[in-house]
Amino acid sequence: MHLQNYIDGRWVDSTSGETFEDTDPANGEMLATATKSVAADVDRAVDAARRAFDSWRLVPAPKRGEILYRAGEILLRRKDELAREMTREMGKVLAEARGDVQEGIDMTYYIAGEGRRQFGDVVPAELPNKWAMSVRHPQGVVAAITPWNFPLAIPTWKIMPALVLGNTVVFKPASYTPLLAVRLVEVLEEAGLPKGVLNLVLGSGSELGDHLVTHPGIDLISFTGSSETGAHISELAGRLLKRVSCELGGKNAIVVMDDADLDLAIDGIVWSAFGTSGQRCTAASRVISHRGVANDLIDRLVGRAKKLRLGHGLEDSTDIGPLVSKSQLERVHSYIPVAEKEGATIAAGGRVARDGALAKGFFHEPTVLVDVKPNMRVAQEEIFGPVTAVIEASNLDEAIKVLNSTKYGLSCSIYTRNVNDAFRFLRDAETGIVYVNAGTTGAEVQLPFGGMKSTGNGHREAGRAALDVYSEWKSIYIDYSGKLQRAQIDTAEKTGMAP
Ligand code: NAP
Repeated sequence: MHLQNYIDGRWVDSTSGETFEDTDPANGEMLATATKSVAADVDRAVDAARRAFDSWRLVPAPKRGEILYRAGEILLRRKDELAREMTREMGKVLAEARGDVQEGIDMTYYIAGEGRRQFGDVVPAELPNKWAMSVRHPQGVVAAITPWNFPLAIPTWKIMPALVLGNTVVFKPASYTPLLAVRLVEVLEEAGLPKGVLNLVLGSGSELGDHLVTHPGIDLISFTGSSETGAHISELAGRLLKRVSCELGGKNAIVVMDDADLDLAIDGIVWSAFGTSGQRCTAASRVISHRGVANDLIDRLVGRAKKLRLGHGLEDSTDIGPLVSKSQLERVHSYIPVAEKEGATIAAGGRVARDGALAKGFFHEPTVLVDVKPNMRVAQEEIFGPVTAVIEASNLDEAIKVLNSTKYGLSCSIYTRNVNDAFRFLRDAETGIVYVNAGTTGAEVQLPFGGMKSTGNGHREAGRAALDVYSEWKSIYIDYSGKLQRAQIDTAEKTGMAP
């Protein structure tokens, strides 16, 4: 299989003629070659998107929404096929890959409805015979830059709201997941998207990224990925006063109080810490346990972690798939000696898994670290692998202090049966997403998604909030008095309206 760029409605190779490989991280099998783009390909994609913007913005929004409804139907029809390809391309187990595609379907349907909403405000004007209202105006050409961990869902979070609001898009997916990016573009092409409205550029972010971000034809950069790349993009774009929306890393925590249903809490921790091999931005890489239940919690968590079965994500027997790449495996594993050096104890896992067929892939044992203090690197830095650190706290206040002690602020949860504690936690947690008696993952598309502090730059994906990223507000005043009326100056007395 060979994967190409999609520019101005045509599938084309890069002008460089070079390619890169798309491989299965569970066994190293090659799935496809992908065209490796250079700056000239970015230029073509941006030019096509700029030209298409002139007509796409004038297509009635309900018609734009209808194309998205059709895309949702095609995604639903192809769900199983896409999920299987996703498992092979980036490793997550099949049930989770199906969930990723389903999230893309949910987002597509949800946003399609915005074709008939996109509500603005109509408000009273302060002067007689005057009308005041606000409407949304598209940003223009959007660069959508996405990571590999949700290779279908995250692109839909960006592309669907951008399109329904009348923007055109240049899509630069992660180099580990070009196949799913091609599939999403195929779906929108089949749904009837006009040429040039969505353009796909495959290739290395470190080589192409600066050119795309600083391109004068790009109006908005919507980025999801690491904090390092997000900061770099923001710096470049900031100098040019471009709009930038960043969704970045996390160091999410599950707090378990001494009155919690411990069985329920352990289920939530295992799912949130080890699902997708810990490669979710919302993964629970910290567990903050009340001291009163910590020993019991650790025993049970260690028992469960040791029972998880590693393997290819397409096999029914597999609980945990591989990490996405060799470099990601090395990065995750490098935290084990860091943890030990700082005084943490490895209570489960801690090794690269190399038994039998696992030797061909990038597998890491599910790992539980204990004796962890809040200021240790493993308690502060995003590890992005199947590693969770248990930190003990004496009471709710201390647990919240530990929770809020990192620079990140994406997701958190509390397990408790005490409603007062739950509400204090909801109020004081400095994260964009908070759960009660559930793990840290599982966001739904109809609410905003994103984080506080260094997890982002104040924007949100999904929900109604997504519309604010991909549109500008335009305030409109219509004076039908037939005379000069001056706001703030012509007061009620002067206009003859005083009682
Ligand atoms: P990454 O290395 O920052 O890459 C993300 C995207 O940026 C990729 O498409 C990458 O291309 C591209 N890129 C790299 N350098 C660039 C540059 N100079 N200019 C423009 N684009 C550039 O992140 P990742 O490893 O793929 O993803 C993992 C990170 O994403 C984690 O930190 C995770 O927490 C975060 N994440 C956050 C959320 C959220 O909503 N908060 C959701 C999911 C993931 P290449 O692939 O070609 O390098």
